[in-house]
Amino acid sequence: MSASPLVIALTKGRILEETLPLFEQAGIVPAEDIKTSRKLLFDTSLTDVKLMVIRGSDVPTYVEFGSADMGVSGKDLILEYGSEGFYEPLDLKIAACRLMTAQPVNTSLPSGRLRVATKFTNIAKRYFAEQGQQIELIKLNGALELAPSMGLADVIVDIVDTGKTLKANGLEAKETIAEISSRIIVNKASMKIKHGIISDILSKLRQAVSQG
Ligand code: AMP
Repeated sequence: MSASPLVIALTKGRILEETLPLFEQAGIVPAEDIKTSRKLLFDTSLTDVKLMVIRGSDVPTYVEFGSADMGVSGKDLILEYGSEGFYEPLDLKIAACRLMTAQPVNTSLPSGRLRVATKFTNIAKRYFAEQGQQIELIKLNGALELAPSMGLADVIVDIVDTGKTLKANGLEAKETIAEISSRIIVNKASMKIKHGIISDILSKLRQAVSQG
């Protein structure tokens, strides 16, 4: 009797570009060109391993509910999702960046309640509560950097890599909330039921990361 295949959910976009070489080093190669195909589920060089390619914000959901056994997810999305439903056994050390607060250059913040624009509302809520800072949260899905100059927010919470996007919009990074990189997450039940193949893949990926 053959067991169900192991399904790994990958994050599409820039994280995928950095993920595929690590997976290749671990012996998992998609059966067709994953970057150009419109398919979402791929066979691989291992008959019992399949790869899904989805939006990063959906990876924790698929893994928590066990529709994917493993996933590659940015730490930002893991923190925002805030689940106890999966393990996080390996830092792939790719797509490194920081989650930071940012505000207009050379301005001081108003006293009292701050208006904070972000797509990471759970993270922002926790962070400012820990600081004892009262805030009004404004949920945005993109172009956060416009919010301060358009009078919508005093501060934003966003991903910063080189800082160029902030600078181009008259903002500067202030506090680091978290260091971000992509992590392997594993469904808790899958870790027990498919322990052999998962620990084998983890040790190969761990080796690939240390060689990288
Ligand atoms: P930068 O101008 O280099 O600071 O890049 C900032 C923008 O790129 C952010 O607004 C993010 O949307 C995006 N970005 C940069 N690095 C990452 C990453 N590792 N994961 C997700 N988004 C990123």
